[in-house]
Amino acid sequence: MRIAIVGGGISGLAAAFELEKARRDGTQVEYALYEARNRLGGSLASEIVNGAVLECGPDSFLTEKPAAAELCRELGLGGDLLPSNDAARKTYVVLRDRLVALPDGLMFLVPTKLLPTALSPLFSFSAKMRMALELLHPPSRNGLYDESVAALVKRHYGAEIVDRLADPLLSGIYGGEAAQLSAQTVLPRLVQMESQYGSLTRGMLAAHRQMRARSESSAPGNGQTQAAPRALFTALRGGMQQLVDALAEYLDRTAVHLAAPISSIERDADGWRLESEGFVGIYDALIMALPAWATSVLLNSVDETLAEELAAIPYSSSITVNLVYDETRLPRLPEGFGFLVPPSEGRAMLACTFVHRKFLGRTPPGKAVFRAFLGGMKNEALLAESNAALIALVRRELREILGERTFGHADEPEHVQVSRWRRAMAQYTVGHKERMGRIAARVQALPGLRLAGNAYDGIGVPDCIRLGRQAARELLTLGVKAPSAVALESLRR
Ligand SMILES: Cc1cc2nc3c(=O)[nH]c(=O)nc-3n(C[C@H](O)[C@H](O)[C@H](O)COP(=O)(O)OP(=O)(O)OC[C@H]3O[C@@H](n4cnc5c(N)ncnc54)[C@H](O)[C@@H]3O)c2cc1C
Repeated sequence: MRIAIVGGGISGLAAAFELEKARRDGTQVEYALYEARNRLGGSLASEIVNGAVLECGPDSFLTEKPAAAELCRELGLGGDLLPSNDAARKTYVVLRDRLVALPDGLMFLVPTKLLPTALSPLFSFSAKMRMALELLHPPSRNGLYDESVAALVKRHYGAEIVDRLADPLLSGIYGGEAAQLSAQTVLPRLVQMESQYGSLTRGMLAAHRQMRARSESSAPGNGQTQAAPRALFTALRGGMQQLVDALAEYLDRTAVHLAAPISSIERDADGWRLESEGFVGIYDALIMALPAWATSVLLNSVDETLAEELAAIPYSSSITVNLVYDETRLPRLPEGFGFLVPPSEGRAMLACTFVHRKFLGRTPPGKAVFRAFLGGMKNEALLAESNAALIALVRRELREILGERTFGHADEPEHVQVSRWRRAMAQYTVGHKERMGRIAARVQALPGLRLAGNAYDGIGVPDCIRLGRQAARELLTLGVKAPSAVALESLRR
């Protein structure tokens, strides 16, 4: 079987990995991966500057989603997996230009510890009363219908929690807005808890009790060893680029085509016909591992309805700015991993990570790395600004938020690095689940087609890896019903 993969981001690379693995195991499969740019990795890219790992795109993945760490281990990178420094984990929210720590016990936006929440300066007295009353919320059948995250959180905890928790957390992850994102898709656990318990706080406390009971029943004395708590995030010692390089190394070099943008896709009796700058390739099966909007453009000639559904998935753009400083010039940097900025603060920055604190051993001693995240659905215009303007903006905001005492001494950063990510992050808006159902039905009607990427079932790196590998496995096991295998023609026009 001949399979084409369009897109050499982590989704396409994961699909290619699965196919290469099958090929090495003796499966009769040939594949070709087409990537428009002259480098692999898509949003994954890192630079090492004077020993400091600077992440241009994602900096890590959620440990509880195993697909990324599993792939790293299969590629021999197990020894380079680096847990986040959770002993120092503390995150702040900017409130009227000051950093206020997120209270202890917050789980998925839900406060579960009475005292830290009651004492937190992050919430007003009336918001705290509202949180206490939430315990009386009756079970509801709202989960049957999708609503926005803002609507769900507002019904339970009020508008202030949307502004100070939901919006900053979601803009820090998705570059998105709580008023647009789907509760059913983004916070399915909370939707399920609402229908079971009514109160989200009671639901979260029950889940916490169950988790504790499970870990106690596996404690020493019960004949089992107690597992150490896992770090929240996992990174790679050499940056995400290490994963991209290991994948590139593993793949069959002749199967990977860089600077090969696919410009048209047709489906005929012979199979899938792809064109890229003078080449035509014909394949039995096709994995589209592009952003949904790019897939939409290419599949329009094959299925207009599918293309319309794909085009309707919005994307946000973002910018990361890394600044490297001499740490001795920053005497009063607060503890913790960094801060989130609510949109109501009216700032360009959505979040900032203190990189040297979040992952130890990736920044040389005596250096501090700040990674600012900007853009999002409300501030796409920032992408048009020059690097110099963006750096000046981030430095000004850091001075205003961290204070002159910290940043007034900072002088010029020793190194700066700016990356723009245009329409890179899918937004799971209200109705996403239904749209996925309609897309799946259209895809099923097109034998040999699979979609992978961050638009469908999770935007994180582990989700993309899982979907990419799954797409490849399905094609290998299910095979392709319709066309016979046709040799790849590399016809110069
Ligand atoms: C700034 C930023 C920070 C993030 N932080 C995190 C994080 O910390 N943790 C986490 O888990 N996730 C994070 N994410 C999300 C995660 O990185 C992405 O969802 C994931 O990398 C998407 O991978 P992909 O392969 O699906 O798409 P992409 O990375 O977008 O790859 C698609 C590829 O397709 C290529 N392409 C486009 N058109 C064509 C064409 N016509 N022909 C051939 N090739 C084409 C593109 O050049 C690109 O290389 C972050 C994302 C961004 C942008």
